[in-house]
Amino acid sequence: MTDRLTPQQRHYVMSRIHGKGTKPELLVRQWLWRHGYRYRLNVKSVPGKPDIVMRKYRTAIFVNGCFWHGHFVELGVESVELGVNSSCCKIPQTNREFWVNKIRRNQERDQRNYQVLHDNGWQVIVVWECQLQPKTIEETMLRVELLLNDNFLALHQPKVVSYASVEESEVTMAAESQPVYGQ
Ligand SMILES: [Zn+2]
Repeated sequence: MTDRLTPQQRHYVMSRIHGKGTKPELLVRQWLWRHGYRYRLNVKSVPGKPDIVMRKYRTAIFVNGCFWHGHFVELGVESVELGVNSSCCKIPQTNREFWVNKIRRNQERDQRNYQVLHDNGWQVIVVWECQLQPKTIEETMLRVELLLNDNFLALHQPKVVSYASVEESEVTMAAESQPVYGQ
């Protein structure tokens, strides 16, 4: 890949990888920690190795760099949870096709990871780098907090139902899981 790049292109790409200021993932972790949320990092047993894992909320958080993960409308892949920003960064005009393909592959891999998590009962929150600017981070993280609380409530709702309705639903489930004989 490096062979294909002019020094200007390489500079552009590196500036996208090593953003100025604090690492986006660290900003999210610090905010969560300050607000009393506890988490684990890069848990290998969870599909897609999310940046932040919150088992209590059964939620995986990905903090995505806008360039590599394609925070663009023009690629046509809708990003989840916290929206799309068409203007946060641009694909270079030179070697455009190369970058579009590369980023599209990254997006497809991301989508596969999110899908596997969903299939395993995890909620996925994607936070984009550009949503963590000093002016936007508080609003972004409050939205994350809302999603976390939603996920927590959804997880713990069954425990709130009365004894009678638990019994009822167990009967229904037993009836549905009757083995089918003679096939
Ligand atoms: Zn962005």
